[in-house]
Amino acid sequence: MINIPKGTKDVLPNQSYKWQYIEDAAREVARAFNLKEVRTPVFEHTELFQRGVGETTDVVNKEMYTFEDKGGRSITLKPEGTAGVARMFIENGLASSPMPVKTYYITPAFRYERPQAGRLREFHQFGIEVFGSPSPETDAEVIFAASSFLDKLKIKGVKLEINSIGCRICRNEYNKALKNYFAPHLDKMCPNCNSRFEKNPLRILDCKEDGCKEIATNAPKITDYLCDDCKKHFETVKSLLAAQGVEYSVNSSIVRGLDYYSRTVFEFVSTQIGAQGTVCGGGRYDGLIEQLGGSALPAIGFAAGIERLLLLMENTGVPFPEENKPLIYLAGMDEKSRAECIKLAAYVRGNGACAEVDHMQRSVKAQLKYADKIGAKFVAVIGESELSSRVLNVKKMSDGTSAAVKSDELYSYLIKEDK
Ligand code: ATP
Ligand code: MG
Repeated sequence: MINIPKGTKDVLPNQSYKWQYIEDAAREVARAFNLKEVRTPVFEHTELFQRGVGETTDVVNKEMYTFEDKGGRSITLKPEGTAGVARMFIENGLASSPMPVKTYYITPAFRYERPQAGRLREFHQFGIEVFGSPSPETDAEVIFAASSFLDKLKIKGVKLEINSIGCRICRNEYNKALKNYFAPHLDKMCPNCNSRFEKNPLRILDCKEDGCKEIATNAPKITDYLCDDCKKHFETVKSLLAAQGVEYSVNSSIVRGLDYYSRTVFEFVSTQIGAQGTVCGGGRYDGLIEQLGGSALPAIGFAAGIERLLLLMENTGVPFPEENKPLIYLAGMDEKSRAECIKLAAYVRGNGACAEVDHMQRSVKAQLKYADKIGAKFVAVIGESELSSRVLNVKKMSDGTSAAVKSDELYSYLIKEDK
């Protein structure tokens, strides 16, 4: 037998309704916020992620699925959604559309990581990206969209943490302060942080090694180094969030894993799914579009990990709606009535409801047993007398009551009685 690759998961037929529920919630929120869906390829040129995500990130350093295709190109399976959407935005000249351009996506993403609960090699994200607006109102709206999504799923106990990592100007000063602070500790820090120290000291704050984390606790805070514009921007974001009743706390150690962030960064974190607690992360990336060869256009977005949300919902007993069940099972006694079952099923299905018939040449008794197993809400047995009278004996499975229903009134009867 061939097994599933490490770090990947199947979604089984009796589990997919949970995925659909989460995805439907994402699409509803997207509609409410006037975000339009975009779909980009699962693979891109490797260079896109090297430039877009950044050479000093864990993602580019060690987590990418990169291979050479038969044409000798270096190809990478998308490790996140933003770089591809930014490429699409530039390549299709969307910079000339009325601003802002508000988009969302639901996509698989691939990272070569050590698999554990909430950390997979193929996982899925619901993300939004809004292009063209520098204003703090947009930051607040994007954060509000994420929090509306979590609310819609009735997820509790997730905390919003925000930070500002400033712009190029204030980050320059801050990086100097970080270097001064970390320099005497470098021999006790991981090799990765030693290289971050040279290339991008801010990244050190994102290290997952306990030793480095401990040293970083007393590092200077970015919020003490923000320039006046960045400070004002951050203050406005905070007051807009407060005005919308969104609770948050400022966590100055959030710098986000990817290189392209500037100013506002945020995470929604749960304490109930172990170490992989961040269910949603995002921020402003004002430099990315330009860095990828587009015009200097600001942008902001987030991505929520669907597997982590699912885990959180299952761990905390958040109710999922019921799985889809057939509205009616039509059991046939003989060949002629089985043909009538198929016709009636087509009529019910044509009205948009779910009907089921026998596929296994089962006896009527076995069909009824099966109907019960699959949770059909109503059952009707069709035989010679039903064929000639065109009246069905429809049994309601929840209370065992039966009613005589004209076959051409079956659908409206079912809908009325299903309430
Ligand atoms: P982490 O710190 O947990 O590694 P990250 O900063 O690498 O997260 P992002 O790149 O911001 O994560 O991705 C956004 C979201 O996607 C995360 O908050 C998380 O919910 C989800 N995610 C990221 N990596 C994985 C993974 N390997 N498996 C499952 N979900 C993931
Ligand atoms: Mg990561």
